[in-house]
Amino acid sequence: MKIYVASSWRNTIQPKIVALLRDQDYEVYDFKNPKPGNTGFHWSEIDPNWKQWTPDQFKMNLKHEIALNSFYSDMRALEDCNVCVLVLPCGRSAHLEAGWAIGAGKPTIIFLQDNIEPELMYLMAMFICTDTQDLLSKLAELKNDIRRCRVCGCTDDNACLGGCYWVEEDLCSKCVSVSERDDD
Ligand SMILES: [Zn+2]
Ligand SMILES: [Zn+2]
Repeated sequence: MKIYVASSWRNTIQPKIVALLRDQDYEVYDFKNPKPGNTGFHWSEIDPNWKQWTPDQFKMNLKHEIALNSFYSDMRALEDCNVCVLVLPCGRSAHLEAGWAIGAGKPTIIFLQDNIEPELMYLMAMFICTDTQDLLSKLAELKNDIRRCRVCGCTDDNACLGGCYWVEEDLCSKCVSVSERDDD
C-alpha cells in the first residue's frame, strides 16, 4: 500500500513517522527525499533572496524548472498513493495536499500529538489519530479494504502493465493463466 506523508520541513516527527511506516513495509513517499540523492525542494535553489520576492517575482519563479520538477514529483506521488497521512504540525503545502487527496476520494488520516490547533475542516478526514499505535491500526484496516490480486498484488489504483480487470474477487485477468498453471 502506498502512503503519501504530507508534512512540513519544520515538523520534527515526520522522519520518525516515515521510518515507522516503512518498517511496516508500506511504500512511503517522503518529500524530503523523493528519490535517492534528491533532498527535496528548497526555494533557495532558485534564488537565495526568495524571502524578498515581490508577488510578481514569486509568480514567475513558481514556473521555474526546479519548482515545476518538484511539484510534478510530489503530485505524481499524491495521485499514485492509496492513503494520505497528514502529519501535524504543518503548513499550507501539506494542507493543500491533504485537501486534494480527500477531494480525490483517497482515505486520509490526520496525525496529531502536541500543541494542537482545533480546526473544523479536519472533519473531512476519515480518521484522526493521536498516537502511532492507532495510526498503524487504522492503516492496517485500510490495507485490508484494498482489493488486491492474490497472484501479482495489483490493485484498482495500480493495475498490471497494459491494464487488467477482475476475473475473480482477488484475481486479475493478467494472472488467470498463471494461477491455472499453479493449480496443475
Ligand atoms: Zn494479477
Ligand atoms: Zn493485474
